Amino acid sequence: MQPAPSNLAAVIQLIWTEGEISRAEVARRCDLSRSTVSALVQQLIDLGGVREARVGPSQGGRPPVMLRFEHDRFRMIGLDIGATHLTALVMDPRGRTLSRASVACPVESDPPGTLRKIDQLLAEVQAKASLSAGQLLGIGVAVPCPVHPSTPGRLSPSILPAWRDIDLGATLSQRWAVPTYLENDANLGALGELYWGQGRGAGDFAYVKLATGVGAGLIIDGDIYRGGQGIAGEIGHTAIDAQGPPCRCGLFGCLEAMIGSKAIESDFLALRLQQGTDPKKPAPDLGSISAAAAAGDPLAVAVIERAGHHLGVALANLLNIVNPSRIVLSGRLTLAGEALLAPLNRAIQARTMWTNVAAADVVISSLGDDAIPLGAATLVLRTALADPTRLSLGLPTSVPRRQFVGVGGPPPTP
Ligand SMILES: [Zn+2]
Repeated sequence: MQPAPSNLAAVIQLIWTEGEISRAEVARRCDLSRSTVSALVQQLIDLGGVREARVGPSQGGRPPVMLRFEHDRFRMIGLDIGATHLTALVMDPRGRTLSRASVACPVESDPPGTLRKIDQLLAEVQAKASLSAGQLLGIGVAVPCPVHPSTPGRLSPSILPAWRDIDLGATLSQRWAVPTYLENDANLGALGELYWGQGRGAGDFAYVKLATGVGAGLIIDGDIYRGGQGIAGEIGHTAIDAQGPPCRCGLFGCLEAMIGSKAIESDFLALRLQQGTDPKKPAPDLGSISAAAAAGDPLAVAVIERAGHHLGVALANLLNIVNPSRIVLSGRLTLAGEALLAPLNRAIQARTMWTNVAAADVVISSLGDDAIPLGAATLVLRTALADPTRLSLGLPTSVPRRQFVGVGGPPPTP
């Protein structure tokens, strides 16, 4: 009889987490009989996910043979498709980046050119990481829009109309002959933080990306929370001031319209003009305004202070509704450091219910820009650990792609 797949997933997730463990310990930790564990482990050895390693220390009787996750056998690619850039990296199952490349690209307006650049980028990172045939488990793709569950391989046509007729998931699966998984970029930033960054050990947290746009990924009970249509976490389009400035979404006073890069850059220019500074001086971008605020430049501090307050109001709303135990901030605005965090924390303190205030823990990402591509690669690993039959390589190309696109199975223990 075939062992239940959920037990198979539980066993490989434990072996992956521990790196090395005995069969007896697996049986104890997974609450399974020794004979069930032996059958499951044999299946995992046959799938190529686990091997027997050196003999462990004796506990009095016969010394146990240890089981080891095949860390060197598998590689994952994470591809981050931004509004104006592409980043790809090759990751190993320990979360280490083996190669990385990035290129500017007009993603929104030029799908054919973007597809060509993706091909070049993926070829480059695979060559740099010396990937051999059959090592690649799949490609995780972060996209700058929600991914609807009914069209898991496509970008949102309302946000990226030029991509309307392209099934990116199918295109990449066919081109590289591996499963491809698409997911919203902020959700993948959250996944990257959950496994390798500031979200480790936090079962419920929010990841907020503060760059050209503003978006959030929510981890609830150790898994990405997508909502009914895949748009959960669109904090950038929640209202801060219903009579505020117009937003690209057609509404007014959205958080993104007030603290997105364009808003902060124009706030800075307006304030500089007000103070009578030479209007011909080049306009700085979000990154340099944030860095100037961190260095104490009064003009930049004033602009970032206002942004910090608005962001704090939005995060207070999030804390009151979802109550994450931690909020991880990422993106160029976080270069401002304390100049951003101080007004932000004041706004949170003033606006959250007291139980949430005690728990509010706002930190800046330690993974920087790579949280998202790392999260994309992690999605591939996570999917394979949830369904270890995906670890067997050389999958027949006749298997329908739809079987691969999307995420299934129970969430593994990070
Ligand atoms: Zn909006």
